[in-house]
Amino acid sequence: MPPRLPVMHLIRLTYASVARSGLGYEALTSILRSAATRNEELGITGILCYSGNAFLQALEGPRSEVSALYLRIARDERHSRCELLGATEIDERDFVDWSMKLVSWEGALTADRRALLLRHARTASLEPWTMTSRQAHGFLSELAEFERKQQAA
Ligand code: FAD
Repeated sequence: MPPRLPVMHLIRLTYASVARSGLGYEALTSILRSAATRNEELGITGILCYSGNAFLQALEGPRSEVSALYLRIARDERHSRCELLGATEIDERDFVDWSMKLVSWEGALTADRRALLLRHARTASLEPWTMTSRQAHGFLSELAEFERKQQAA
């Protein structure tokens, strides 16, 4: 009989949180540097959108790894009020290009990006905890497209 291989369920988890006040560029880059290295080891990909007082992050990868990572992230004192927006099984990844892509929302706020937010969230400023799971995923997927185009240009 062939050996039983562990089944790997891929999931995508999306959450919103409030950034610790005064969190600066250095703290953000430090989070991203260690996140990118660890995520690569764990087979996790994703996107982290930062808007000054809020984070919206999507994590994709093996269910066990994503669950454990979310529990670690939720304990991190660099943010608070982590709110799970959704977690779903996926067949393929939407953020496969990045072990973690950081997007500073206010750093590159163009008319196109404002329209993107209005289309998905119907709010003028990024308030991720008001979003449904579907809105958050639609917003982050299109934001990733913007980033890919910008990287290619
Ligand atoms: P440790 O490194 O032992 O840290 C324990 C605690 O110390 C942390 O929870 C934090 O409160 C604090 N801390 C750690 N480093 C610093 C620092 N440089 N400055 C200030 N305080 C610090 N990690 C990932 O691996 N992948 C991710 O995608 C990811 N995304 C994140 C997104 C956000 C918005 C935040 C705030 C953190 C994210 N992290 C991510 C970091 C994650 O929360 C953990 O710090 C990291 O996974 C290491 O886990 P650990 O248990 O070894 O914590």
